Amino acid sequence: MTDAVRYDAIADFGENYDQSREKFLSAMSGKGEVHSIPHPEKGSEGQDLYLDIGVIGPEDAKGALVLIAGTHGPELYAGSGSQTAFLNSGLIDNYSDLRVVLIHAHNPFGCAWFRRTDHENIDLNRNYYDFSVPFTPHPGYDRLRPVIVPDKWDPAAVKQGMAEYQEKYGRVEMLAAMVTGQSHDPDGLFYRGNGPSWSRRVIEEWLPKLTQPQETVSVIDFHTGLGPYGEPYMVHGYKPGSKEFVDFKKAYEGEVRSTEDPDDIDEDLPASPEGPIVLAMHKIISHAQTYAVVIEYGTVPPEEVFPALMQDNWWHAHGDKSEGLSSAVKQNMRRVFYPLEDKWKDMVWKRAVWAIERSARLARGQV
Ligand SMILES: [Zn+2]
Repeated sequence: MTDAVRYDAIADFGENYDQSREKFLSAMSGKGEVHSIPHPEKGSEGQDLYLDIGVIGPEDAKGALVLIAGTHGPELYAGSGSQTAFLNSGLIDNYSDLRVVLIHAHNPFGCAWFRRTDHENIDLNRNYYDFSVPFTPHPGYDRLRPVIVPDKWDPAAVKQGMAEYQEKYGRVEMLAAMVTGQSHDPDGLFYRGNGPSWSRRVIEEWLPKLTQPQETVSVIDFHTGLGPYGEPYMVHGYKPGSKEFVDFKKAYEGEVRSTEDPDDIDEDLPASPEGPIVLAMHKIISHAQTYAVVIEYGTVPPEEVFPALMQDNWWHAHGDKSEGLSSAVKQNMRRVFYPLEDKWKDMVWKRAVWAIERSARLARGQV
């Protein structure tokens, strides 16, 4: 057994998409197969982009463990650093009985651009949605839109607009109005699109075939930007009393929350957005028992995270993009989603080790 907690993972964290990809591919070398699916667009430096899938372990294993990095672009680094350290530390050897699938850059375009959404401004975690079901947007979105999707960027006006909205409707309602997702405002925030995104189509093609022989598939989707600095926050969307809810509680020793449990809902977890990949996993991999969970690592307070997202959205619609990633807007996006601090990276890695072990229990049926 490897003492992964003592492993120094700092060098496994890249500072941009290219570095992270290079580190991931080099860590994969000699360990398994890599499928590199080219993305139709180029990155911020004109570089080619790929959704890479690393696959390790016996094809006929009973269980599979899937780690997803980069569903939201600037959040790539926690997941990518953890995947690469998982390989380089030797921790992977503790899971040689499992089929391990590593998705590196679920949203390659957003990762290369430090952008939450993809090249069509689609938020992938609002896109895994059944588009045949008519969707009613949260009524608050259009009320809030002039504040959160402004034509001119004025941070004081955004702050004031949000404070006024909150005063009138309450904080939980305001957050729900913003984050629930919408299909009618393609330049707006939390846009779900009107059909399956490029990334979703790739995942729906590859993930079922790569896990075809498995009976159980346990998935962790890595995110950042919610909760206290460096601390993980495990959240799934299973209903209280369901098999998955009960098994998660056991495997994670209670340290997991559900968007379906009223006791867990508060201002940190305002609503159950429709369309996250984890909520669709039972449909994507319908041949197996699936367990899917999000790990959220805190960075800075929401008062800094939301304005950064709004400003970035404004920048892509109206800003001077010639500055690329060196623009203050992009540097701020990195700062709020990816603190370039050794302490934070170390916390991310240690908690990833903890979460991987618990999700592996589910993959092995040890609950
Ligand atoms: Zn996220």
